Amino acid sequence: MTSPATSPAQAAVAMPERPSAWPWALQRLFLLAFLAAIGGLIWLLYQRDRDEQQATLVSDVLWLEQNFHLQFERNAELLQRFGDDYAAGSLDGATLDARAAAVRRLTQGTTQIVLLEGDGKERGAWPPMAGELTVGEAQPEVPAPAVARLAAALGRPVYSNAYAVVGGDIQFEVHVPAYRNGRPAATVVGLYSLRKMLGEVVPWWFAEKYQLNVLDSGGNLLMSKTQVEARRDAGLHQVAFDPPGHGLALQVVAFHHETRVLPILLVVTIAGLASAMTWSLWVLRRHVLSRYAAEKALRDEYAFRKAMEDSLHTGLRARDLQGRVTYVNPAFCRMVGWPAEELVGRAPPMPYWPPEHMDFLIEANQRLLGAPAGTQGLELKFMRHNGERFDALIYEAPLIDAAGRHCGWMGSVVDITERRRTEEFARAQQERLQFTARLVTMGELASALAHELNQPLAAISSYSTGCMNRAEQGLLKPEELRDALSKLSAQARRAGQIIRRVHDFVRRSEPRREQQPVAALVEDAAGLLEADARRRGVALVLDMEPDLPQVNMDRVMIEQVLVNILRNAMDAMQDTAPPDRALHLGVRRSGSGVELSVADRGCGIAPEVANRLFDAFFTTKRDGMGMGLNICRSIMELHHGKLWFEARDGGGTVFHLYLPGAD
Ligand code: ADP
Repeated sequence: MTSPATSPAQAAVAMPERPSAWPWALQRLFLLAFLAAIGGLIWLLYQRDRDEQQATLVSDVLWLEQNFHLQFERNAELLQRFGDDYAAGSLDGATLDARAAAVRRLTQGTTQIVLLEGDGKERGAWPPMAGELTVGEAQPEVPAPAVARLAAALGRPVYSNAYAVVGGDIQFEVHVPAYRNGRPAATVVGLYSLRKMLGEVVPWWFAEKYQLNVLDSGGNLLMSKTQVEARRDAGLHQVAFDPPGHGLALQVVAFHHETRVLPILLVVTIAGLASAMTWSLWVLRRHVLSRYAAEKALRDEYAFRKAMEDSLHTGLRARDLQGRVTYVNPAFCRMVGWPAEELVGRAPPMPYWPPEHMDFLIEANQRLLGAPAGTQGLELKFMRHNGERFDALIYEAPLIDAAGRHCGWMGSVVDITERRRTEEFARAQQERLQFTARLVTMGELASALAHELNQPLAAISSYSTGCMNRAEQGLLKPEELRDALSKLSAQARRAGQIIRRVHDFVRRSEPRREQQPVAALVEDAAGLLEADARRRGVALVLDMEPDLPQVNMDRVMIEQVLVNILRNAMDAMQDTAPPDRALHLGVRRSGSGVELSVADRGCGIAPEVANRLFDAFFTTKRDGMGMGLNICRSIMELHHGKLWFEARDGGGTVFHLYLPGAD
């Protein structure tokens, strides 16, 4: 701030209106890409999970199918051995029943074992046959003889078609042939219940995970392991249910997707973090934009203030509470002649303090630093770098920082040397002019004085001559002598008064205002000009109201004003015909004061002259000074009075003087 090496104004101009858009666009792009990647990841995880679950389903179904096959094969083996033993004739009576019951128990999924003789006749059934079994219109024979024949012909187990039986169950048979000496000797038939088969072969965990359906060749549901409906979209697999049925199918449907808590938790966390990041980026962007706007406003403000400071002619100087300079503006540097770098950081005494005023300045500085806010201006003598002394007027104001703390003083310094010189010159000039004016008036007075004094002196002389003549003739009576002597002394007093008035008039003195009667003043002034008026052939007509109020005035000064105005009026009537040379001096009460008017029949005042009449040195006379009216107005203003003029009806001018009454 203190060294304006780089122009902040230029910096402010160089700063763009808005921050460039591409970083924001890039940020937005990255954000979108990030969100897309997160979305893709979540989708991939989901798909993978689905695939895994489908694969598990398929492998479970294949395992189950395998299980069914194994069970069928084992059962067929057991039935085969039973059939072979029977064909060999090793079973009869009680052993046959016991063996058949054991085989029935061991073959999972079967409800009954039927033993047929080689000719197809039933040898026995375990448990025994119980009435009508099958349902439907074309009730098949149980066990089916055609299947038995086929099995005997093929020499291997053959399965029958599935058919519905009483109780909503589905049943099918396996016919296992047995031979004796190469000829069919018996057929063991295992009657399977689909319900029992599903109940015994399908493990519990499978039933919990999946719905297991058995469908016929038309896709109709024959039997289901559970009554609860599974959701189709959760996963489904179907395999052929061979060998038992022809066209039967096993359909496995997963109840629901397995919910895996950890991946979901991970996904939710990632999504939450992504949202938080997006939000924080948005907040950051808003913050950056507002900071940018604030910074720009600050730079604009700084540039404006800097320009304002640089244009100042008043020196500015900031100091901390210890008096150390913290800032100076260019005007101050120009004033004292030291560069800012040499002044900033300096503590008193300052290089611009003249040595001869050092003690006073140190004391004044202490006073300024301790002064409360709103100190009055202080006039001091400072020194320029070239040694020249100058007068400085300093105003100090407290410096308040952003936290509202008083941290120093800001001083404005005005170089008043020139103003001082001009004022001094004007004052001296004015004094000189006033003195000159008095001298001129005095010169004029001298001749008037001669006239004035002539009269009383002539009277004194004639009275004393008369007395002497009378005394020589011895005719002088004592009362005549007293009379003559008193007239003599009256004339001598008058002469003395004239001289004293002139003395008072010429003496340079400060105005001494006091309560004065106006009438005496008017009479004195008229008396002073009496002789001159007579000489010029001017008739002085006095028109004064009685009981005029007293006025607070310097009598000598106001008399000077009146004399000057009367004399100007007589001058103006120089070329006026003698009968018209009358000068009216009117005195009357006006409000609480008194107004005097001097009316002449002179040459009048031309309009182009009227404006300049009161200017110093304005005169139309060959030997005039042009200071009279100027001084007169100053004197009237000093008395809070007024001086003005107007044209007089019938020719000439009227000058008015107003003197306010005593308060
Ligand atoms: P000065 O008498 O030395 O000229 P003043 O200031 O007294 O200086 O007067 C300035 C001018 O005003 C005079 O020169 C004169 O032209 C004009 N003036 C003053 N009084 C009258 C008047 N009564 N009639 C006409 N002109 C006047």
